[in-house]
Amino acid sequence: MNLKCPLYINGQFIETPEKQNIINPSTGKVIAEASLASLKEVELAIACAREAFDYGPWPQFSLIQRKEFISKIAQGILDNAAELAQLETQNTGKPIKETTFMDIPSSAKAFEFMANNFIDYLRGEEFNVSDEAKAEVLREPVGVVVLIVPWNYPLLIACWKLAQALAAGNTVILKPSSLTPLSALELAKIIHKAGFPAGVVNMLNGTGSKIGEALCADKQVDMISFTGSNEIGKQILQYSSKNVKKSIMELGGKSASIIFNDVDLDGAVNSSLASIFLNQGQMCTAMSRIFVQDDIYDNFLASFVEKAKRIKLGLADNPETQMGPLISDAQRKKVINYIDKAKAEGHRILCGGKIPENTELKNGYFFEPTVLVDVTAHSHIFKEEVFGPVVLIHKFSDANEAALLANSVDFGLAACIWSRDLTLAQELAGKLNAGTVWINTYGMFYNQLPYGGFKQSGFGKELGREGFLEYIRFKNVVLDQSRDGKPLVNYWYGL
Ligand code: NAD
Repeated sequence: MNLKCPLYINGQFIETPEKQNIINPSTGKVIAEASLASLKEVELAIACAREAFDYGPWPQFSLIQRKEFISKIAQGILDNAAELAQLETQNTGKPIKETTFMDIPSSAKAFEFMANNFIDYLRGEEFNVSDEAKAEVLREPVGVVVLIVPWNYPLLIACWKLAQALAAGNTVILKPSSLTPLSALELAKIIHKAGFPAGVVNMLNGTGSKIGEALCADKQVDMISFTGSNEIGKQILQYSSKNVKKSIMELGGKSASIIFNDVDLDGAVNSSLASIFLNQGQMCTAMSRIFVQDDIYDNFLASFVEKAKRIKLGLADNPETQMGPLISDAQRKKVINYIDKAKAEGHRILCGGKIPENTELKNGYFFEPTVLVDVTAHSHIFKEEVFGPVVLIHKFSDANEAALLANSVDFGLAACIWSRDLTLAQELAGKLNAGTVWINTYGMFYNQLPYGGFKQSGFGKELGREGFLEYIRFKNVVLDQSRDGKPLVNYWYGL
């Protein structure tokens, strides 16, 4: 182990005395040593980001210059794609096929898209508000933005947030999960090489419980963009309310996939496997509840279970691997706890539900793909996010019942509908309480489309014009041009 992971503050890579070992979840081995930020580095990063926003050259750059800088990050990611994919796989346990074909190219695309599509929107808009007055609505960056990201898509979610925040002209402090800081550091190197002015992008690896409050409550920070669990999201809202600042919250989910009788069974089974087992089920949009219409329920279930049993678990850097390990031993314990509760509640496990016996995998945090049935809408596993490779499959008879079941949880992040009847599917999409509905597909994120959940899944959007707009503030400037006949207010006390 010789990989070091320093912090990045004000254009400098900084080692700190407090360190954390970074583990490869496939093998349980230490792969790097990461510096952890203390309150001192938090103060420094905030001060530098503030200075860079208030007095640095970044806000003065023309929109074209800003586009060029942001495009350089996209190119830097593409130039280092193979190394980044390896690093992300080693740090997260995500199969190399996923990091190579999904995480890394999508990360580059986020910068490319934001650079090329929304920056022009920052030009102000003029209105003739009355015969004598005109107004301009200015679109300005919010200021200093703290970006807090989880461990399940460390690079991709960091890139979504950075691309939007930087395209809008903000300065940022990125806080990766202390479990997965390695790709964020590589990104910092790419940004450094691209020549960004000091203080525009800062990267603080640290433990949330130690530095979270200092980072999120500080008056000099204007906005928090958070992706993570509900529990931590609520804490961050408390911190940020101390000095009243804008927050966006991308939180958990318990998403439903609804499969109608008229589907192509094989296609629906294959896609449904991906919709829960990609990234070991550690996806906020994982379809962890699958509802299947009566007539095809038995066949769907038999085929799904048979294929789930054949999913190839393995070390994440093996290109043949279809499912890697969970992120940590603690996460696996959390999943096992849910399985124990489900058993106690009388639910049947049709496959998985345990640690694999394969000796090659014994040091990693593997868990078998798990299918549960006989789950009622009141049970824990029906309502709560497990964040692992665990799915429950349940029957429904018609679209109304499916909508009721899908909407009966506190979350509202995403849903899938599978049917050849597109009218029925589109009507049902309108009834679902979910920020994203995929019809006859799963997991397709497009940079054009705003993504974000309802209810306990949070508020605010990522991506799309709406996501970009989260990172700007609107200012209206009213200019009265009349010489004499001013509005009444101008004479109010001057009679
Ligand atoms: P988490 O909430 O434990 O941590 C998320 C981030 O918050 C990490 O960087 C962590 O270090 C930081 N953090 C922890 N305590 C903090 C504190 N007190 N103050 C400030 N920051 C703190 O989440 P996780 O376990 O890393 O990720 C899994 C969760 O993320 C799941 O609930 C998943 O659904 C959610 N998620 C949501 C989306 C979405 O787009 N809605 C996407 C991915 C993941």
